[in-house]
Amino acid sequence: MLSSFGYDVLTDIIILLLRRFMLEINQLYTLIREPRKIVITTHQKPDGDAMGSSLGLFNFLKQFGHQINVISPTNWADFLDWMPGAKKVLDYEKQTTEANAAIDAADWIFCLDFNTLSRTRRMEEKLGNATAERILIDHHQEPQVEKFAYGISETTKSSTCEMVYDFIINSGNDDKINEAVAECLYAGVMTDTGSFRFPITSAAVHRMVANLKDKGLQHSRIHEELFDNYLENRFRFIGNVLQNRMEIFYEYNTALIAVPQQDLVKYNIITGDTEGLVNYPLSIKGIKLAAIVIDRGEERKCSFRSKGGFDVNTFARKYFNGGGHFNAAGGQSKDPLEEVVAKFIIAMKENKDQLSNYQF
Ligand code: 5GP
Ligand code: MN
Repeated sequence: MLSSFGYDVLTDIIILLLRRFMLEINQLYTLIREPRKIVITTHQKPDGDAMGSSLGLFNFLKQFGHQINVISPTNWADFLDWMPGAKKVLDYEKQTTEANAAIDAADWIFCLDFNTLSRTRRMEEKLGNATAERILIDHHQEPQVEKFAYGISETTKSSTCEMVYDFIINSGNDDKINEAVAECLYAGVMTDTGSFRFPITSAAVHRMVANLKDKGLQHSRIHEELFDNYLENRFRFIGNVLQNRMEIFYEYNTALIAVPQQDLVKYNIITGDTEGLVNYPLSIKGIKLAAIVIDRGEERKCSFRSKGGFDVNTFARKYFNGGGHFNAAGGQSKDPLEEVVAKFIIAMKENKDQLSNYQF
């Protein structure tokens, strides 16, 4: 027989072992009914899926009487501001004191649409040291599971919004999907699937959208909010980029766009204006890998997109300190733009076999 001391030690060891893995998220299904202090956060420069999943979860959870703060590590694109609750989101860089107080007071911190804490930029340390239990909901490869008490990581999911939807449905709360929840979740699943185009768009995604439509979703309005709200300067900028900043390497089925900082200044480019630009060259016949490097001043931000069998997650990890998904990934570099471009060309050449003898 173990003494009670023995049981304590055993329990501690078991908890420690468990903490190396995340506890399953379904353990939260009953716990979400008791009001708590909650922080919801996502990756820096949140996109439609990051903001949509955060605010979708916010609009769902607030119906249980929780005290909730949504924190973005940085600012975000204006075209996300229509989302119900967006006006209350704290920008960590601008509202650090308020955001830190919310993190200190929290019982739970939901971490959505990112796999490593470093994706939260200046929030990383605060988040890592928080006493609250961190909960992961994410679809990126190789998550830092040891950092999360509970969580779910599924790379086969189209979007984090789809995963938040699953969480709501599987916890028996279909009736709590109101129009606000539906709008936010639709925005993320639509943008992350390239408007339901990418191969990851499953029948389940379409069933989800059908259910959101039944709840009153007006999908056309969301498309207009997201895609028809740019200013003229963005299109002048894109014209210049496609004319002067894009290089095609037909031998490698690859296109590269390199944007110097002076272009961003000249065309008054703001957060969100460069969203989706990397996809343009993928519409050129034969192009299977598209890359963009943008000189943001403090760093060079890279985005990679591929069609079919070329794994840009591995590519971004190996050469550009990044990661993401099989067909969509990103990275960054502190090197000057010309060096990043040179490095890309070397990397492309190293992958010649895969890129040239392209198989779908
Ligand atoms: P984007 O090119 O739109 O910034 O990102 C494409 C995908 O890769 C997104 O899912 C994004 O979260 C992920 N991603 C972008 N940059 C990084 C990065 O530096 N590290 C990792 N791990 N993922 C990234
Ligand atoms: Mn996503």
